[in-house]
Amino acid sequence: MHDIAISDAEWEVMRVVWAQDSTTSSEIVDVLSEKMSWKAPTIKTLIGRLVKKNMLRTQKDGKRFIYRATIEEQEAINHTMEMLLSQICSRRVVYTVEQMIEMSELSVGDIEKLEETLAKKKQTAPLEIKCNCVPGQCTCHKYNNKRKEGVEK
Ligand SMILES: [Zn+2]
Repeated sequence: MHDIAISDAEWEVMRVVWAQDSTTSSEIVDVLSEKMSWKAPTIKTLIGRLVKKNMLRTQKDGKRFIYRATIEEQEAINHTMEMLLSQICSRRVVYTVEQMIEMSELSVGDIEKLEETLAKKKQTAPLEIKCNCVPGQCTCHKYNNKRKEGVEK
């Protein structure tokens, strides 16, 4: 299992590696010095960190090093999403997903795909989502308590 606690800057490096399958530090420097206007030593530091974090695997090829990702791009994205969703009350997830859709540029085909996913999801969806938070970390409990108090009075 990967602990994908990587910074935004490290993510930029990973994107280059994911796009190339296997790459060298000079290829990474080429892409990122252009896009981010970072200096080579900065980029090499980032590469070094990613190797330390076990996100990149190195292999010596003559005088140069070849870099490969130890995790696939989609897997890393999914993990990041899971992390985000685990920080949100399950009853609030819908607002986050809604916001994401609002913020995304989507084609007609993309929207049809989402509609299909929703239709499928609807077949097994519960009528109500239960809060999964620890009391004190979200407002659901407050409202529930107030409602209970109201009934008792
Ligand atoms: Zn909650």
